Amino acid sequence: MFPDKNGYFLDFGGRFVPETLMSALNDLEQHYLLAKRDRGFWKELNYYLTQYAGRPTPLYEAKNLSRQLSNLKIFLKREDLLHTGAHKINNTLGQALLAVRMKKKRLIAETGAGQHGVATATVAALFGLRCTIFMGKEDIERQKLNVYRMKLLGAEVVPVLSGSQTLKDAINEAMRDWVTHVEDTFYVFGTVAGPHPYPMLVRDFQSVIGRETKKQILRIAKQLPDYLVACVGGGSNAMGLFYPFYRQRSVKFIGVEAAGKGLSTDKHAASLCKGNIGILHGAKSYVLQDGSGQIMPTHSISAGLDYPGVGPEHAMYKQTGRCHYVAVTDKQALDGFVLLARSEGLIPALESAHAVAYLKELNKLANKKSVVIVCLSGRGDKDMNTAVEALSQLNL
Ligand SMILES: *Cc1c(COP(=O)(O)O)cnc(C)c1O
Repeated sequence: MFPDKNGYFLDFGGRFVPETLMSALNDLEQHYLLAKRDRGFWKELNYYLTQYAGRPTPLYEAKNLSRQLSNLKIFLKREDLLHTGAHKINNTLGQALLAVRMKKKRLIAETGAGQHGVATATVAALFGLRCTIFMGKEDIERQKLNVYRMKLLGAEVVPVLSGSQTLKDAINEAMRDWVTHVEDTFYVFGTVAGPHPYPMLVRDFQSVIGRETKKQILRIAKQLPDYLVACVGGGSNAMGLFYPFYRQRSVKFIGVEAAGKGLSTDKHAASLCKGNIGILHGAKSYVLQDGSGQIMPTHSISAGLDYPGVGPEHAMYKQTGRCHYVAVTDKQALDGFVLLARSEGLIPALESAHAVAYLKELNKLANKKSVVIVCLSGRGDKDMNTAVEALSQLNL
């Protein structure tokens, strides 16, 4: 099984970090491997996932949408119903419990739009830990409400002034902080990227999505799904859904990236569809970079997909053909956003709307009544301002 003991998913992953971070990552890996074998750890995590976060989430059959897209029988995995509004809490609860086990007193995290920052500040409050969130100055201005949320939860929000003042710079800054405060500090990484063991750790914590889904679909539809569809930013909600189905080769995986203003422009965030192999944030994977290896600026209407890299396990899935990666534009995502709202009364996060939008394409390719499960990774409340503005420009 992947990763191997050096943290590789075939050619991807690993640990490309300064020597000073090596021992911190080793220490984290050792503690996690012990926790992983400890039933008490999973029991406690499960307690918080159910009693605090709201698991298990339903697998809802979207009959109205299936009537419109008549080649598909569509089910939605309702991660949007979780506390804090998305799947991110699955991971932050797991990492916070690990931090407590390691007797760390302080959590740090990076955040782009603020969703992972809020989920980290939430668990810090819950477990009585100090919390510092690194956020690009540009993002702080764009996401004021989430900054207030984090502060209300007791976190300190540190503006990052370097580079493009966005997510990738916030990650660099968080790593720098970690190096100097390793003794009392735990770095809560937000997706299945970063240096080993984070891709494995985050995948394991998010896999609860796919484990529940498998039981639910076998009970409801009495069969395995034909397709699993999820949006891919760093790749954690997608990997969480896919991983428990890895060995069921009849189940096809589709990862949907952000094509922004179009894959033929330079305004997108489709690392797997358009990037090439490089190193970002301590791991080897697909990266959006120019000829000299400089990370390129990205664009997506959904802040959660606006990242120039992707987790190394997805890079492996691409290389081996286990998953098919596609991209949908901002405009298609907005169309998916409206489609789900009108057909089912569900307002998805703009990230999740990318996965919903792809159903229209899949409907053209699929055979009669393919069973499709879409990960509804989050709810759309956070995106209302963005959506209203963008939709009014499109006269929708
Ligand atoms: C953060 C976020 C994403 C993207 O992150 P992944 O690691 O790719 O899952 C997707 N959907 C929502 C709702 C998010 O908040």
